[in-house]
Amino acid sequence: MAKTEYEKKLGLYFHIPFCLSKCAYCDFNSAPCADHEIISKYIDAMIAHMSSYKKAAEEYDVDTIFIGGGTPTSIPINELVRLIKAIKSNFNVEKEAEFTVESNPATVDKSSLVKLRKHGVNRLSIGLQTADENELKILSRTHSRKDFYKSFRLAREAKFDNINVDLMFGIPIQTHSSLMHTLRYVMSLGPEHISLYDLKIEPGTRFYDNYEEIRPYLPDEDTDVKMYLDSVKLLQDNGYLQYEISNFSRPGKMCAHNLRYWNCDEYLGFGVSAHSYFENNRFSIIPDRDMYIEAMLNPLSKIRAIENLEEVEERERMGEYIMLRLRLSDGIDLKEFERRFGYSFEELYGQKCMRFLRSGHMRIKAGKLSLSPSGMFISNYIISDILEFEDFGKYYFGS
Ligand code: SF4
Repeated sequence: MAKTEYEKKLGLYFHIPFCLSKCAYCDFNSAPCADHEIISKYIDAMIAHMSSYKKAAEEYDVDTIFIGGGTPTSIPINELVRLIKAIKSNFNVEKEAEFTVESNPATVDKSSLVKLRKHGVNRLSIGLQTADENELKILSRTHSRKDFYKSFRLAREAKFDNINVDLMFGIPIQTHSSLMHTLRYVMSLGPEHISLYDLKIEPGTRFYDNYEEIRPYLPDEDTDVKMYLDSVKLLQDNGYLQYEISNFSRPGKMCAHNLRYWNCDEYLGFGVSAHSYFENNRFSIIPDRDMYIEAMLNPLSKIRAIENLEEVEERERMGEYIMLRLRLSDGIDLKEFERRFGYSFEELYGQKCMRFLRSGHMRIKAGKLSLSPSGMFISNYIISDILEFEDFGKYYFGS
């Protein structure tokens, strides 16, 4: 597409719902698939989906792209490259756009990584979760720590100079010391970014179905809090700045795509279960893979791929802004809030925040209200208390 500088910026998300196998804790829209024909049709469907937005997005410059899943690198590399080429021909992608692909250890080799790099991917996210072999087995991950090390080295050889490593805490049998060991090991390799998520047992997962069996092995609540707070400290002491509840980076290496979600900026999502916020509308794509393929590739199909389409009202936009900004270490700039919405934050929510300020879960510094590390650990509780929210499910945080 012809390149012109537009003022309006856009992020793109692509969901690849395929994995080598299903992990015991995973509630993402993903499943194993060895059928190349289905994978190829799914990519065709995403390409058709994209082309339907070509006109609507023509006055936007794309400055972030994120191909996530699932495991995007579990599909044949030529399919991934086909998708990338279509992205570039349908949208005005900025030369310097941040372009992330999610991967898992042992699903990449030197040649696929070199190809991704050659086609403009400049950020690789690797799902390690833990460096402890027994914990990896409990999670039913298909890779070992050695596989991760090899993938990391190959990514560096392929000239990836912006790598994220995904980790988790609160894993059954995990101890405080094994978590610290994992963090030290990962930091010793020097990735630019580390994400650390609290394992939640969600319905629809094997962990959920076998909860009584795994419950005795889960870290108790006090250990969980200590794991989080000590991890934040260890990461920060080693130069990984916390900029969001679960995200840490070297200076200047924050994930621009995820920041887009937390800053309430516009993005379009393609593929099953993908969410969008575009021209003041919020919507998502149906979760069923075969129905999605049918809706996108059969011109006579009666299936509607978009669901939950709603215009975002001002009050809701304000609540969303508060909820998302409070996830960031930077927090809410009180003057900026007033400029954006025309209301004083203190007048609307000051009373509600008072008890969290007193308890040390919130703080105000240089006109910005933010959560302290202990506040971040209970952020859902604090945010829902302030906003009197009940329905958290409809919001997409990105991950
Ligand atoms: S690799 Fe990731 S997306 Fe795939 S099943 Fe495991 S946790 Fe889920």
